[in-house]
Amino acid sequence: MERIVQQLDILTETDKEACELPRISKDENRGNHRKMYIESYGCQMNFADSEIVTAILQEQGFDTTSDFTQADVILLNTCAIRENAEQKVRNRLKHLVNVKQKRPGTLIGVLGCMAERLKSRFLEEERIVDMVVGPDAYRDLPRLLEEADGGQKAMNVFLSRDETYADISPVRLNSNGVTAFISIMRGCDNMCSFCVVPFTRGRERSRDPYSILAEAQDLFSKGYREVSLLGQNVDSYQWTSEDGAETVNFAQLLERVAQLDPDLRVRFTTSHPKDFTDEVLHTMAAYENICKYIHLPAQSGNSRILKLMNRTYDRDWYMDRIAAIRRILGNECGISTDMIAGFCSETEEEHQDSISLMETVQYDFAYMFAYSERPNTPAAKKLADDIPNEVKIRRLNEIIATQRKHSLQRNLPDIGQVYKVLVEGFSKRSDADLQGRNSANKVVVFPKKHYQKGDYVFVRITDCNSATLIGEALSNE
Ligand code: SAM
Ligand code: SF4
Repeated sequence: MERIVQQLDILTETDKEACELPRISKDENRGNHRKMYIESYGCQMNFADSEIVTAILQEQGFDTTSDFTQADVILLNTCAIRENAEQKVRNRLKHLVNVKQKRPGTLIGVLGCMAERLKSRFLEEERIVDMVVGPDAYRDLPRLLEEADGGQKAMNVFLSRDETYADISPVRLNSNGVTAFISIMRGCDNMCSFCVVPFTRGRERSRDPYSILAEAQDLFSKGYREVSLLGQNVDSYQWTSEDGAETVNFAQLLERVAQLDPDLRVRFTTSHPKDFTDEVLHTMAAYENICKYIHLPAQSGNSRILKLMNRTYDRDWYMDRIAAIRRILGNECGISTDMIAGFCSETEEEHQDSISLMETVQYDFAYMFAYSERPNTPAAKKLADDIPNEVKIRRLNEIIATQRKHSLQRNLPDIGQVYKVLVEGFSKRSDADLQGRNSANKVVVFPKKHYQKGDYVFVRITDCNSATLIGEALSNE
């Protein structure tokens, strides 16, 4: 427990929520006769998928509810990335047994990566589950619901080579009305040896850029002021029109989204070091509204471990990409990473290489994990998970302590600086304060005065801790 608390301590407030809590649908009453409840675990891609699922079921006459005891259909959109993510879902299903006893007609569906990984085993192991639906099968939900309504167990876990849900307008859930996610691609072709994603989300495919631009424009016209473009490896975004006459790569897509309106901020995640180009960096430099923040997961600082992970870059390549960021975007650009402690056969010296990489880069944030072997991944098949759990945890704690130090070190020079902050809402601690982010993705808290959600506010930073910058508003330009 202490490990998790420490780990969460250095994440921003919003990230903490994402790690700790599932996201739950809100109450929306359009006078429909059936209600759905959806609870989403894991990454931003999953949260974005839940918005597509909600759109599909709204068409079928479902309103959303935040109270699962009132729902006709309860959906859990699951994550399979680490064992504890799956355990959370299993525990949740135990709680739902009572609901089924009280309201026997209630249907329970498991969606997403865990559904895809376990397929029919899920229906055998968890008797209360009525539907198992993989990430590429959401269009089939109306038929699956009908089947489950008729008393049968229903399942669709087919993975697609071309499904991008491009034509579906997501119904925004848990929205602050200011920031939104847009999926620009699905799946992953990378086969990092530790990772279950290529098996649960299938082959990589890029979404039509025109549908992405239309979605961003629509969000802007509804008052949203920031979009985050999502993909497992955004740098390999590559779209070709059907006649082959037009192609769009990630840098070009980023530029087109940025050109929609200077008041629409653009972020993106995740960048892969092997594909991350200077072209993207130059595009970022050219547009003020493309946020100067890059999530560039290293996973390890040791080249032998990176090879075993099949990341297809080594430490020198990674450091070259960091140097390119600093050369083109300067020291203020926020950089974050993912780090895995205790991967197969990692020695103490190799673990120290991860710490020394962190010391050299000085990340602003990090998401840090102990290696969790996932069944049927290349690592599970070929490598022994031979680092004892207590060693993994100790190494993880060393990584976390290093990051906490750097988060503070990276925030301290911000004192005295003025940043343009997009206000996302009240601060978590007090309604007298507002909270937003600067371009580098740092959370900034400042007294509310007359400012509101969705405003851009110039804030002078007066104080900080390792997770937050604290300041005073200067003006409302
Ligand atoms: N596509 C992104 C990338 O390549 O950086 C990340 C995708 S994954 C959803 C998020 C992070 O989970 C990974 O970067 C990795 O650090 C972590 N992760 C994935 N599989 C893991 C495993 N088996 N054990 C521990 N951490 C894992
Ligand atoms: Fe997993 Fe690697 Fe793909 Fe990221 S790039 S989703 S870590 S296989």
